[in-house]
Amino acid sequence: MVEERFRQWQTGRPFLCPVCGQGLERITNSLRCPDGHVFDIAREGYVNLLAGGKQTKVTGDLPEMVRARRRFLEAGYYEPLAQMVGEYVAEWLADKSEGETAVLDVGCGEGYFLNQVRIYCRNRDVAWLGMDVSKTAVRLAARRYPTMRFVVGDVWQQIPVANSAVSVLLNIFAPRNPTEFRRVLAPNGRLLLIHPTPNHLHQLRQYPGILSIQPQKTDHITRQLHPWFQPITQKQTEFTFTLTQPHLNDLWHMTPSYHHLTPTQKEKLANLDTLQLTASFVLQSFKPVSN
Ligand SMILES: [Zn+2]
Repeated sequence: MVEERFRQWQTGRPFLCPVCGQGLERITNSLRCPDGHVFDIAREGYVNLLAGGKQTKVTGDLPEMVRARRRFLEAGYYEPLAQMVGEYVAEWLADKSEGETAVLDVGCGEGYFLNQVRIYCRNRDVAWLGMDVSKTAVRLAARRYPTMRFVVGDVWQQIPVANSAVSVLLNIFAPRNPTEFRRVLAPNGRLLLIHPTPNHLHQLRQYPGILSIQPQKTDHITRQLHPWFQPITQKQTEFTFTLTQPHLNDLWHMTPSYHHLTPTQKEKLANLDTLQLTASFVLQSFKPVSN
């Protein structure tokens, strides 16, 4: 009998055992495969599906960065982006039949975008799944959003999700693994990529040592995905916002290059109390190429 606790894990499907690749079922407070590999549901409600339960060398973002990102995102600065993604997914799911529909966010971080999308699709019966390599991020996500299922997993290994189980795969400022994305997506599914344009946070370039996220060219991404995916749509969104403390400080901590600055450079940034910034993103959608 399924206990009241961890209700989001009424089933282990569509997750797979990271050791042998067989399907997982929930038994008491863990997920198990037919060969007896066991993965406990953590107190916070997530499951660690890194092979062998170990952290790999790639452990994702630092805890300090993860917490700063949560405070920044929850303050709503990227709400227009969340809205664009939410509307796209809601529209895409609108004419799909109910049940067996899953949305998977690969590189979900602390779950902000997946939850925003869920809010836009609130009338739909959807399995909401998030995966990230950072245990800190996944723990925060599971604690905050108890109706969605979060796992620790590595995008560079086999994604621990069954073949063709996913209707929409979200990938928001996160690494891509085209062959694995293709395998887990349903033949009529959609891959949704969001990444910054070269104009994103361009005002930061005036501060020595601060680099914004390396922008990736959309045609490079299209080429990288080419054998497995065909582009469908491309949309851009750009908006300005005024950042004040304490979120200005959060932005510095979210920025990887900040952690390499000298104490003098950091002090200079700490003395700023307001900044006008431009956010600029591209949303690209792809459909799987049929075999
Ligand atoms: Zn197994």
